[in-house]
Amino acid sequence: MNLKPEVIITTDRTMMSNHHRKEFLGFVATGPAIGMPEKIWLWISSPKPKILDDGEPLEAPYGLRKVEAALLKSGIETKVVDPAYLNHYIETTKVLMIGHHDFFAYGPPSNEWWLLTGKEPINRISFAKLMESQAIRRMKKNGVKIIVGGPAAWQWLYEREKWKKWGVDSVVDGESEKVIGKLVERALNGEEIPSYVYVGIKDVPSLEEIPEIVKPSVNGLVEIMRGCPRGCRFCSVTLRPLRFIPLEKIEREMLVNVKAGIKSGLLHSEDVLLYGADGVKPKEEPIMKLHEMALRHVEDLGWSHASMAAIRYAQEKYKLISKIMEMLKTKQDFLGVEVGLETGGLELAKKIMPAKSAPYPVEKWHETVEEAMKIMHENDVIPAVTLIIGMPEETEEDLLQTLELLDKIKGYRSLIVPMMFVPMGALKNKEFYKKEMIRDLHIQVLYKTYRHSIYWAKEIVRKSYLKSPTYLPLRGVLEFFMWYVENKVEKIVKELPTLRSA
Ligand code: SF4
Repeated sequence: MNLKPEVIITTDRTMMSNHHRKEFLGFVATGPAIGMPEKIWLWISSPKPKILDDGEPLEAPYGLRKVEAALLKSGIETKVVDPAYLNHYIETTKVLMIGHHDFFAYGPPSNEWWLLTGKEPINRISFAKLMESQAIRRMKKNGVKIIVGGPAAWQWLYEREKWKKWGVDSVVDGESEKVIGKLVERALNGEEIPSYVYVGIKDVPSLEEIPEIVKPSVNGLVEIMRGCPRGCRFCSVTLRPLRFIPLEKIEREMLVNVKAGIKSGLLHSEDVLLYGADGVKPKEEPIMKLHEMALRHVEDLGWSHASMAAIRYAQEKYKLISKIMEMLKTKQDFLGVEVGLETGGLELAKKIMPAKSAPYPVEKWHETVEEAMKIMHENDVIPAVTLIIGMPEETEEDLLQTLELLDKIKGYRSLIVPMMFVPMGALKNKEFYKKEMIRDLHIQVLYKTYRHSIYWAKEIVRKSYLKSPTYLPLRGVLEFFMWYVENKVEKIVKELPTLRSA
């Protein structure tokens, strides 16, 4: 294999990191540095990964690994390179591929921190630094073609000036496995390439066309399915067809990680409990088989996402959450996962996410959320719960019901992550949430989520998340951060009469 192939894949530091093996710490990079220097903030969220030969990281973001696998499958030699080592490749590179989850910090929760603090989030700063680095500028001078992509590809449409200034030749928006080989080949042959490639339904890869990763992914992340059947109107995932990755394929990817010494596993899906499901109803057998297989190989396991309704259904019908946790607890104390609450407004839920509560009726959304939160609390599943404010058609009544729901779940161990509406999915033509749109009730929702999260974060950091002595320095810095934020917020609250009694 050529050690300096003509096609290089990279991303910025906030993405090229294993986040101290704590995936959730990666979210710290979505905010600006608060109460401490940028360097320390970056160390918390994104320490440099272990580097193998000549800038190749031991583990890289899963999306980059998929692109690498797709190119190799097309017969194109390529290599993932850490951003700090790009200068070793200036004279040999012809095509530079860059992926990201949030190039310009327009995604949630970056846009929320930006709006609340008025300061640019670290991920945006870090990405701009990469694009303006001497290495990339020199590559560009040499005529290197730059192709960018990933889940945040849409953000380039709002940054056309930078698109031009940084010399980005092509933006690929959507699942790229079927189209990327041809595009790179054209770039290598010096042919014209389209400036924007939107991957529509007909170009979405089938199960057989999704290549398996050949090198390790960050924190052992492996994909178990694509798409989601719930059809929420604000979500872009829902536009993709549903595909369950066969168990043998998932196992082979896990083994790529395990053989490289990465002993943790992270199952990625929009709803892990819907793996092999009957529509929106989880089934016991595929979920148990998936976990049994994973636990044969890894020392600890995480889930990327699950839904409130699937958690409730899986437990009520099969006691599945208890069964999974019983297995996991032979190896770990808790399971982390991101879960969407989005709104407590029932009318709003009917309009924008009518199937989020299914198979339970949307009118019972509060009950489903409460039940799911209780089940997770009792079984040591710790969710980061997402909540969206500022959605189109949101009314005062919706916000009051959200406040009511937040009260109902305050006793359950979790972090609640409020996010501002970002126009995506079927709502992509609507307006971004802006500062002028903040209302009193939004501030009350934000304050309630803050109080909930700071209360539980202290317990989670101490007793579960960072309890090992290895994490003492990190825990110290995070505890200082929480103390700093509490002080700041209390000062602000004193000046806001609506919050003093909240
Ligand atoms: S449940 Fe989640 S992934 Fe599925 S459509 Fe709704 S927001 Fe998207």
